[in-house]
Amino acid sequence: MAYDFDLFVIGAGSGGVRAARFAAGFGAKVAVAESRYLGGTCVNVGCVPKKLLVYGAHVADELEQAAGFGWTLEEGHFDWGTLIANKNREIERLNGIYRNLLVNSGVTLLQGHARITGANEVEVEGQRYSAANILIATGGWPQVPDIPGKELAITSNEAFYLKQLPRRVLVVGGGYIAVEFAGIFQGLGADTTLLYRGDLFLRGFDGSVRTHLKEELEKRGLNLQFNADIQRIDKLEDGSLKATLKDGRELVADCVFYATGRRPMLDNLGLENTGVELDERGYIRVDQQYQTTAPSILAIGDVIGRVQLTPVALAEGMAVARRLFKPEQYRTVDYQNIPTAVFSQPPIGTVGLTEEQALAAGHKVQIFESRFRAMKLTLTDIQEKTLMKLVVDAETDKVLGCHMVGPDAGEIIQGLGIALKAGATKQQFDETIGVHPTAAEEFVTMRTVTR
Ligand code: FAD
Ligand code: NDP
Repeated sequence: MAYDFDLFVIGAGSGGVRAARFAAGFGAKVAVAESRYLGGTCVNVGCVPKKLLVYGAHVADELEQAAGFGWTLEEGHFDWGTLIANKNREIERLNGIYRNLLVNSGVTLLQGHARITGANEVEVEGQRYSAANILIATGGWPQVPDIPGKELAITSNEAFYLKQLPRRVLVVGGGYIAVEFAGIFQGLGADTTLLYRGDLFLRGFDGSVRTHLKEELEKRGLNLQFNADIQRIDKLEDGSLKATLKDGRELVADCVFYATGRRPMLDNLGLENTGVELDERGYIRVDQQYQTTAPSILAIGDVIGRVQLTPVALAEGMAVARRLFKPEQYRTVDYQNIPTAVFSQPPIGTVGLTEEQALAAGHKVQIFESRFRAMKLTLTDIQEKTLMKLVVDAETDKVLGCHMVGPDAGEIIQGLGIALKAGATKQQFDETIGVHPTAAEEFVTMRTVTR
């Protein structure tokens, strides 16, 4: 049977665009439907605008350090409206670039919500299209717990478009987004409190990293409240919000920002018309080749709930395009040693196993840990410390994990990701000549076992 398309992609986000472009490049007839914004979460309400706001907040650090280097500055003034307008302009530019990338690679771009109506059929704006393969790349959506007053809270989606910087913010959650936005709000001048339900935020990250970041954030004056959770939110007469915690405490703020995870975006997708099954967490179940339980339907990215990062969605999109249309180039995605950064202030960079994971996996480990005051701060009064840590297999000498909290951690960890992928040993780290004077050289000069 002749289909309208070889591949119909639902969602023009990180994974969908990558799959569509490469499939078209391999000669396939491809359509992409997008209901909201080209480039998806990352470009519009994720990585890109987030990083721009992080840069904005970081300027406060630079200004604070300036005096130590002899600069006298007039008292600074920050204007949220300017930052958001400039950020919006940049996002619009990127939307245009994504449009050109798709159109120039021969992909048919359909604007509107896509709903699957059969194993090989998708409906967009009342028009039905047939396709040999359908790729679900619909991403995720913020999830707010069902508490009284939840409609008074905002999520990252709204934070990027706030009309003004709130004076007092309660950030709820202890994952990537909570920690990053707490840094943004606080750095830009808001009185910020982070509430996390557990003992210590960033569950799953290395224990030293979590503790170190906690200490550094407290030094910066961020109000960290662990073992704290909101029971209800009420609007007060003056327009501010009162959060009543489960332990009975009451906190008043102008904005309550929830970053309590994201759910797969499956709204009105028509899965009931297919044999696509969900896993026990509610994400789309796929096999190692991103095949769902319906033979003609594949899924990638946040909607399959594996690793919710843009470079992972890109790799999965590429894998699907190759598998379908260039099988001789197909390679599976390697989920080991994925480097990642949390753009907190200071940021975290991490790759490989945490100390806890290495021990749980039965490794005998040697830990190399270093805490130091970055050279840049020596002419200032700022007492911030950088943390670097290596987790090494004591038997094979292989470096199992590299972890850092400190300036440029994301930039530094990328190269170490290559080293771990290549299976580098501690001896090879030691034999690598450092770049001097940098903070990064500490990763090749840690000689004494800490534990
Ligand atoms: P998405 O990029 O979400 O794209 C899905 C697209 O599908 C959307 O455009 C949506 O509108 C569209 N869509 C959904 N349903 C339909 C439908 N039925 N019909 C048509 N279109 C539909 N990752 C990093 O690696 N680094 C970071 O620094 C980082 N920062 C982040 C910050 C925030 C605040 C958030 C929320 C996420 C961040 N992420 C980051 C995660 C990253 O954005 C996601 O992992 C990535 O965007 C997932 O790509 P995707 O293709 O699966 O989905
Ligand atoms: P995460 O899953 O990272 O964190 C969710 C946090 O919310 C956890 O601390 C969790 O606690 C807490 N939580 C969950 N449910 C509740 C609840 N009902 N009440 C109170 N607290 C709750 O999600 P995020 O929303 O921060 O980010 C989503 C994903 O997006 C990230 O996991 C990451 O993959 C990606 N991302 C990547 C970034 C980057 O690369 N820099 C930046 C931003 C996002 P607990 O740990 O106890 O379960």
